[in-house]
Amino acid sequence: MPELPEVETVVRQLRPVVQQNKLVRLRLLDKKLRGVNPAELRHMRVYKVSRAGKQIIFHLRHARKEPERHLAIHLRMTGTLIWQRYAERSGGRKVVPDVSRRNYWRKAADILPQHVRAIFYFEDGCVLFCDPRRFGTFALKADAAGFRPAGLEPLSRAFTRKKLANLLRLSSQEIKPWLLRQDKLCGIGNIYAAEILFAARLHPRRRAGSLGASEVQRLHSATVRILRKAISFCGTTVSDFQDTTGSAGGFSRLLKVYDRENRRCRRCRGAILRIMQQGRSTYYCPVCQT
Ligand SMILES: [Zn+2]
Repeated sequence: MPELPEVETVVRQLRPVVQQNKLVRLRLLDKKLRGVNPAELRHMRVYKVSRAGKQIIFHLRHARKEPERHLAIHLRMTGTLIWQRYAERSGGRKVVPDVSRRNYWRKAADILPQHVRAIFYFEDGCVLFCDPRRFGTFALKADAAGFRPAGLEPLSRAFTRKKLANLLRLSSQEIKPWLLRQDKLCGIGNIYAAEILFAARLHPRRRAGSLGASEVQRLHSATVRILRKAISFCGTTVSDFQDTTGSAGGFSRLLKVYDRENRRCRRCRGAILRIMQQGRSTYYCPVCQT
């Protein structure tokens, strides 16, 4: 499931191609995809692409000072957004892909036509919303503030060591499941929770409220450091994630504990363990994390 670094990767890759581009047409191919009326967005220009928690937001309007529309795309489990520039024939005429043409799909690597749930046709290319398991959602709002997540954004300036200490205080929950709580911090899932705790040298079963000042400091800096580094490597691919070019995330090979049960710890050479916490796997090093 895409976490903050994967969603941020998609946003950063879409910005240069979609921002200031006109959405000629949005075509929905899956009846399950509700929450947006494509006719309403026709010919609107995307003036900004941003991220709110794990949602990708297209900010649209016809012109400055005209009413705005904000489309939130949530990738959920297996959603990906793939950018494809139209091929250009001599004379500059653009070739808009026709989804009914079978050889078009054969050319587009790894994309199965039945997995494409929506197509955003822009002036010089299109964004394909591919989603084999069909859990991804669209939502449309007049006010972008409506998409603001409940939890604190860990890469914002508001995420300070003091704020984190206040959030952790009084919580008797174990720190690993606590990190997954989207009402506390947004965007952290199972992969980065494990990597952050390894970087902070904290045992995943520690009680959130029991962390001392120096431990909170370590957790705070590890959170920012790991998320930033993962973004710089275009995220992590464990099973499905692809960026907008169809490539896997480069952070996978830098994982220190996640999905490495019984393998050697890259730091102390001991064995990585796996335990279950609230029905989900947690990977950690019993020597490095206390
Ligand atoms: Zn270790």
